[in-house]
Amino acid sequence: MKLNILVTAGDGIGPEVTNEAVAVLQEIATLGGHELSFMEKRIGGVAIVADGTPLPADTLDAALASDAVLLGAVGGNEFNSLPPDKRPEAGLLAIRAALGGFANLRPAFAFKELAVNSPLRPEIIEGADILFVRELLGGLYFGQPREWNRESGEAWNTMRYTRSEVARVARVAFELAARRRKKLTSVDKANVLEVSQLWRATVTEVAKEFPGVALEHQYVDAMAMHILNRPRDFDVVLTENLFGDILTDESGVITGSLGMLPSATIGGKVNLYEPVHGSAPDIAGKGLANPLGAILTAALILRYSGGLEAEAAAIESSVRKVLEQGFRTPDLARGNTQGVTVLSTKEMGAKVRETVKEQLVAISS
Ligand code: NAD
Repeated sequence: MKLNILVTAGDGIGPEVTNEAVAVLQEIATLGGHELSFMEKRIGGVAIVADGTPLPADTLDAALASDAVLLGAVGGNEFNSLPPDKRPEAGLLAIRAALGGFANLRPAFAFKELAVNSPLRPEIIEGADILFVRELLGGLYFGQPREWNRESGEAWNTMRYTRSEVARVARVAFELAARRRKKLTSVDKANVLEVSQLWRATVTEVAKEFPGVALEHQYVDAMAMHILNRPRDFDVVLTENLFGDILTDESGVITGSLGMLPSATIGGKVNLYEPVHGSAPDIAGKGLANPLGAILTAALILRYSGGLEAEAAAIESSVRKVLEQGFRTPDLARGNTQGVTVLSTKEMGAKVRETVKEQLVAISS
């Protein structure tokens, strides 16, 4: 298998965590005889300093010419006084728009060993494994008209979807559900919003193409509660942009730490992979960053761009195993720290690589 991966590490802890993710991918390439090549380009604050823009043209060109983009994080306090369109985050929004991915996948799963980090009771979250599919290019965040009319003291945004926008993201979600536990929960507010009625009708129509997947509908307000009360009951959860933004952040509490969460945005010209966390300037450059979110993001590259399911699963089970053995980065070493060994970013990356190697050698022998 051959894959050209563009790495845009960005700012703060971005380079530290992406280094570890790339190292895990290199280990897998060596073990499995896969050709993974990596090119690095600037994005965010580092690009503003070096090139005067948060998304230089050569970064965008390289992204569009690659098979997958791995992004670290962007942002830094020194850029906070810049206008929004000149800030590091503008580079992130621009690359997302240019790559055109409309389906944002965010897994939310429980790690038994990290239950102490979650505000939810261990017996509620144990075994939870949800894959959110959030529509990323439509809805309230993009709908026109939108305006804040300062003279009249009114402001408005428009939640707008077309049938085809809903159908394409629904197909992605059904296909993923068909490969998992064959259950899809579609979230809307069809009791109040016309746009949600279109959403529900379209998802119901698309469901006919996937007779093996059970479809249920939930209202977003009820769903916000169900996620916290009975997260194990959900497999793939499909929702529109705004509801997805809120529900995926809420579901972060299942995993218990921001540093553990991966994401993938698919369906456009090139898939974009990024850990959910930001650039964490408060801990950057100190070896304190948790690289597991970035490493789990690397697993998603193998799954969705490389078709290497066994290798992706080996990364995920290695992360579990390393946690079982009591290894933690400082953000995870809260609560009960008995039997816990605190590791630096690099040490944690090395532990995962070691475990991945053991697993893959065991599978192939
Ligand atoms: P953040 O995610 O960077 O940090 C929030 C808190 O979580 C901090 O205390 C941080 O130390 C901790 N944290 C985050 N990731 C961690 C990790 N991997 N290991 C250990 N601890 C971790 O969010 P923020 O502080 O609101 O934002 C900081 C900067 O990042 C801002 O400039 C913001 O705009 C930017 N940001 C970028 C992205 C992105 O690039 N996708 C996302 C969110 C925020």
